[in-house]
Amino acid sequence: MRGKKFILIATAVIITALAVYFAPFGKTNLTTYIMDVKYDDTNKVISGLETVDFINTDDTVLNQLYLHLYPNAFKEKDKIPFTKEEVELAYPYGFKPGYIDIKNITFEGKKMASYKIEGESQQILRIQLPEKLSKGNRIKFTIDFKVQLPPATGRFGYGEKTVQVANWYPILSVYDKKGWNNDPYYALGDPFYSDVSNYNVKLTVPRNMVVASTGMVKDEKIYNNQKTIMINAENVRDFAMVMSPDFKVAETDIDGIKVKSYYFNDEYGTKALKFAKDAVKFYNEFIGKYPYKQYSVVQSDFYLGGMEYPNLVMISKSLYTKNNIFNLEYVIAHETAHQWWYGIVGNNEVKEAWLDEGLTEYTTIMYIERYYGKAAAESLYNYIISGEFNKYIKVNKDESMIKTLGQFKGWNEYTNIVYNKGAMVFHQLRGLIGEKKFKEVMNKYYDEYKYKNATTEDFIDVVDSVTGKDTGGFFQEWLN
Ligand SMILES: [Zn+2]
Repeated sequence: MRGKKFILIATAVIITALAVYFAPFGKTNLTTYIMDVKYDDTNKVISGLETVDFINTDDTVLNQLYLHLYPNAFKEKDKIPFTKEEVELAYPYGFKPGYIDIKNITFEGKKMASYKIEGESQQILRIQLPEKLSKGNRIKFTIDFKVQLPPATGRFGYGEKTVQVANWYPILSVYDKKGWNNDPYYALGDPFYSDVSNYNVKLTVPRNMVVASTGMVKDEKIYNNQKTIMINAENVRDFAMVMSPDFKVAETDIDGIKVKSYYFNDEYGTKALKFAKDAVKFYNEFIGKYPYKQYSVVQSDFYLGGMEYPNLVMISKSLYTKNNIFNLEYVIAHETAHQWWYGIVGNNEVKEAWLDEGLTEYTTIMYIERYYGKAAAESLYNYIISGEFNKYIKVNKDESMIKTLGQFKGWNEYTNIVYNKGAMVFHQLRGLIGEKKFKEVMNKYYDEYKYKNATTEDFIDVVDSVTGKDTGGFFQEWLN
């Protein structure tokens, strides 16, 4: 994500300067989510069935499974995941609850499952397995659910023109070395952590609705006033959509990847398309080839700048103006870099936000360098990254970068520690190991952790193996 504080700063800088779809069973040990859902635009409700085909890939024998119910974070007014200052921006028409109702859960379509909804704001679904699930074994269950969207202009909800459908369905918590990760939806940062999975989605919407989503449309059928879209997405860590009956769509191609822009105004919509294409082109060269066939940049009723999801990013509609044109480019370059750092190479964004945000922010500075030259990149870096951090550190304690989202005091601290200091770590590293090795690190980190989740330790190991040196001390000094 790249938020509104940045927008103000960057502005200042600019002034100065089910048809064919099938689960690839047997071929993979990834979880497959099969959904058959319908969107009711009058009531802003999505309902239907989600079948989860899960294979235990861990040595631990599992007795139960945990899934996130993120929509429940939007249920109670005093617990919504926004800071106090943001509430008015997020709910311009006032608060109404958003939530998810679980009607029932069955195993293999017949046996009723025993489950509990628990945790902070009832954001966790715990399903008791009928029998122990050891490594290599699979379990398939179907959730009958209903999601109520709130009138919120964040990642989940609707505004004047668009409907943002993200973090909306029950998604498995990650089971890693530390066990289940059942963190709630925090107000700060991007509080998500998930495993790469496959998705087959059958979505029914009003006939006039234009849908941007993760994955690729395989088939579309129209009957009466409804449209059913079959969407297939492979090797992605989430599934998000943005819809509007008023979207215009432009598309182009780069290195065999279809890049799409969903927008309302031709002039800025086509500019957004160009920025996205330029970004994909550079990251393909610099990091590694984008492995998906499609990428969409979507103008949204989203007040927070930009937000990344697999194959799709939401961009605040306020950026599609003459005065914000550089911000539009910067935010698109940033969110596009997240396709690599978050989307393809994942990490725990709750506990190590700096890893993907710092890397994404620094990759964005390198995009500026690629298209505007070294001097422009350097002055931008000095101004919005190190300059901002140095201002921050004059009046604040320099704290550890490795902490969970709940430990940050506000957006100011989060932005400075995670984005600015985060990007500084990579800038210093580049200076320390040189241009060639830095690129090698990017390439190797990408290749080794493609479709996986990496940790700070993993990144340091990559640096050490590329440089043949022990850089632990360097990172220790910066991170702690
Ligand atoms: Zn970001």
